[in-house]
Amino acid sequence: MLDTERWTMINIVLFGPPGAGKGTQAQRMMEATGLPQVSTGDMLRAAVMAKTVVGLEAKKFMDAGALVPDEVIIDLIRERMKEDDAKEGVMFDGFPRTVPQAEALAEFVEVSIVLAIEVPDDRIVERICGRFSCGNCGAVYHDKFNPLPESGCECGSFSEKRRADDTEETVAARLQAYHEQTSPLAAFYREAGLFVSIDGDRDID
Ligand code: ADP
Ligand code: ZN
Repeated sequence: MLDTERWTMINIVLFGPPGAGKGTQAQRMMEATGLPQVSTGDMLRAAVMAKTVVGLEAKKFMDAGALVPDEVIIDLIRERMKEDDAKEGVMFDGFPRTVPQAEALAEFVEVSIVLAIEVPDDRIVERICGRFSCGNCGAVYHDKFNPLPESGCECGSFSEKRRADDTEETVAARLQAYHEQTSPLAAFYREAGLFVSIDGDRDID
């Protein structure tokens, strides 16, 4: 667990292109740090499933591989950070994704470090096409790189859930959004002295 005498709050930003492994590493780091994973992608998918106003608004952007408008995302995060489990800090996964999102975040949360998982574009398509998660516990797998064991998931389930936007066409749009709208954030956090680059083009461990 964290040394809470030194730190009142630790907020980690996991940064990187779609399919870099942010969610996978967040799940592992959750065990190591005790900090909850805050994934705007997961929150949006839950909203889409529940057919909330936010979900209905977000769906068209997500299906197209485009970013959901900043105001929607910032409201989601502002509400999420009020919850009890966020008091010692969180691991942001897939947020912030634009400079305005980072600026808005800075008004109510201090970012401790940005861990950037670097993966070249040509590896991303093969990573995204083929990935799935356990329908029961959410553990992330991949047909080729991290297959479901013959005995099923650690939780005992055999159900596989695949994301609607993990297709070759949508990946291209998501990569473009990453390069145009998200990668400028690297300079923002580098200037703040918070940016740490990690080679993500190797095995998960
Ligand atoms: P990935 O990192 O693999 O693209 P995510 O689950 O983080 O997957 O995001 C899925 C989709 O949800 C994105 O393509 C985008 O439409 C939307 N989304 C998630 N987080 C954000 C964000 N911070 N800002 C804008 N859109 C977001
Ligand atoms: Zn499972």
